[in-house]
This record gives sequence, structure tokens and C-alpha cells, in this order.
Amino acid sequence: MSERTPGFSTLAVHAGAQVDPATGARVTPIYQTTSYACENVDQAALLFDLRNLGNVHTRLGNPTNAVLEERIAALEGGTAGVVTASGHAAQVMVFHCLLQPGDEFIAAKGFYGGSINQFNHAFRNFGWNVVWADPADISSFERAISPKTKAIFTESIANPGGVITDMAAVAQIARRAGVPYIVDNTLATPYLCKPIDHGADIVVHSLTKFLGGHGNSIGGAIVDAGTFNWSRERRYPMLCEPQAEYQGIVLHETFGNFALAIACRVIALRDIGAALSPFNAFLILAGIETLPLRMRKHCDNALAVAEWISTHRKVAWLSYPGLPGDRYHNLAKKYCPKGAGAVFTFGLKGGYDAGVKLVSKVRLFSHLDNLGDNRSLIIHPASTTRRLLSDAQKIQAGAGADVVRVSIGIEDAEDIIADLDQALAD
Ligand SMILES: *Cc1c(COP(=O)(O)O)cnc(C)c1O
Repeated sequence: MSERTPGFSTLAVHAGAQVDPATGARVTPIYQTTSYACENVDQAALLFDLRNLGNVHTRLGNPTNAVLEERIAALEGGTAGVVTASGHAAQVMVFHCLLQPGDEFIAAKGFYGGSINQFNHAFRNFGWNVVWADPADISSFERAISPKTKAIFTESIANPGGVITDMAAVAQIARRAGVPYIVDNTLATPYLCKPIDHGADIVVHSLTKFLGGHGNSIGGAIVDAGTFNWSRERRYPMLCEPQAEYQGIVLHETFGNFALAIACRVIALRDIGAALSPFNAFLILAGIETLPLRMRKHCDNALAVAEWISTHRKVAWLSYPGLPGDRYHNLAKKYCPKGAGAVFTFGLKGGYDAGVKLVSKVRLFSHLDNLGDNRSLIIHPASTTRRLLSDAQKIQAGAGADVVRVSIGIEDAEDIIADLDQALAD
């Protein structure tokens, strides 16, 4: 009998996990330990020189986290993964492995506000200079390339504007420039979209959102696609030059197609230290087991709710790539054929006051700044997350006075619609 390649739902339940060899526990236990005893001096020397890979200290790795790393890498189709304390930590650590002060990277504007802040503030302080391109105009990525460009970064589905990035086109530009293409796949999850199939070299995640799914744990992940030739490009010293503190080994020579994941662990996690708690890894693993079921329900509900909202007399516009007629509908069909996710924005004819009234009157929806929760969530950015921006900046950030963002949960669609109906009533 030939070996079957397991399907996505099977991997979501099983990838990376096995019966615990010490106890027989069927569910991956929480290895709540900071460190691991050395077997003997020789074995310890091999571990510390990176000649063997194994457990040393939970800042660098942990058996519960390792199952989560293997599972996410399997779902994305990558060679290896590293989990981190948050999505933002994953982004800092990837760029730490690629950029030096004075380098540039290109990012798609109009995406997740937290990442815009991180790139414009913390990253500029490190001397990593973001150059913004427009995901609606792919040639703007080409024009942004300079000799200092070291990476291109986009989201698959961009939060919150409902932009679907033409990843295959961006990947071609990255190939021609000889730089890796990084995709934040948080909003789509690998169930809806696999960026590596479309040319991404690295995938990052906020596990805080749909992958964990239950609104109970912050976490992040980096997946190495194993596709980028670090030795050929020679512009990434951490990957292609000898590492003095590890006996002069060259990571790409020693670890080949998972060298970036190793660099994220043995250099970025070691020095930046944003490790994931094994308790959070346990909760996120439990969440991922039901990812396909939840995403199907999220997408069905989002489509039903978007259809209902788009015809409401108080609504001026709605942007959801899952709806026929949306400007990103064709790209959604190409990149996210199973559904366009569950986060979208719409505009109220009544502007700022109408937005404030809506978020004040909802009962089933939670009024908060998160997304990808089983619960339906709503936020009016102009009065909350973006209240300190000028009016012009608000509009540029897709957070004009009239904009409301929702993340549709897995409750019954009829109840979600009934809640909006009562909250929008006069
Ligand atoms: C939330 C989010 C992040 C940041 O993740 P944290 O886990 O909150 O640090 C990054 N990208 C996207 C698209 C997000 O939605």
C-alpha cells in the first residue's frame, strides 16, 4: 500500500504530535520547564556548538512549542517553523536575521495598523528603513527596489481594507531583485491560502488571531519555505558568513533549506528573547485542531453578514472580497478559493456619530480591538485605535470617521445579523 499524504484537516489534528514517550499521554503535555538537564559533558558540548539540535533552555526551544512549530510548518508547506511570544515578535526576529542598520525593505501600505507602527517607529530606530508600496499597484513594488532593499513584505489578505495581494506578481519582483518575499498570512490562515505555493519564501503569523481562534493566547510564528538561496545572494551575513559564537559554522551550509528557521532560533530567539510560553502553545495547538471547521463557519457567516449589511439603508459602502462585484473578488477567487476570511469594513452614511452609536448598542458583538476570535467583534477605529491620527491620516489608514471594522465569529449568522439590525435601528 502506498503512503498517503495526509490532508489538511488530518495535519491540523496530528502534525508534529505523538503519544508522549515518557507517560503515554495522548494530548501533547505542557512542558512547563525553563531548562533541561545535560546528559553528560560531551552531549552538552554537541548541543551548545549546534552540532546536535536539542533542548537547552525554553528561550531557545521547548517540547510543547516544538509540536506547534512542526504543525504550523506542515500546514503552510514549509521546511521548519519557530514560534514566538507574539506576531510582532515574529516580525522583529525575521528582520533581525535579514537586515542591518541602513538597509531597506518594501512593505505594502494599508495593512495591519500595529505593523505600520512597528515598521515606522521601532524598526526605523534599529536603522531598518521601510519603503511603502501600494498593493493595488504592483508596479510600485518594482519602483521601490533600491540597492539597499533586503526584503519585500505583504499580507495575504490585508487587514483591515480587504485587499487581496497579487502574491505571484510580488514574488516575481522579489525573485528579480534577489530578495526574499515575506507574507503575513494571519488573516487568511493556511486553510484559506498557502503563500508558499504562490512564491513566498517566509511566512509569518500572529497566532493570537484565527490560528489560536479562542481569544485566549498571544503568540506568533515564522515559517521557512526553504526556497531562498542565501549563499548565492551573499547579502545576508547571518546566513552565509561564519558565526564565531558557534565554532565558525555557516548556517546556510550546515542547515540548508531550514537555515533561516535555525537563525531565528539560535540567534534571534537567543538574543531578543521573545519566546512563547508553553502554556500558550498548548492552547494554540488545541485551537488549530479545529481550524478547518472554524474557518469554514467564519467564512460562511462573514459572507451572509456582508450580504445583509451591504443592502442596509444606513450603509454607504462595504469592502469584502468575498462578495461578487468587490474590486478584489477575482484575486480572492485565485488566492483564497475557499473563502475570503471573516474580517471586513463598511462605512455608515451617518459618519462618526453613527459609528459610535453602533458600537455602543451592540449586545452579541464585543466592542474591542482584536480579530479572529470565535466571538464576533466590532470596532470603530476613528473613535478608538486611530483616534489620535489627524483626519487626513485617518483616511489614509482606512480609518475615516464613517469606517466600522468587524471580525465575524462562529455564532449563528441569524443572531449576528439580528444584533446588527437592532443596533442600527433608529
Ligand atoms: C494582530 C496582527 C499582528 C500582530 O500580532 P500580535 O500577536 O498581536 O503581536 C500582525 N499582523 C496581523 C495581520 C495581525 O492581525
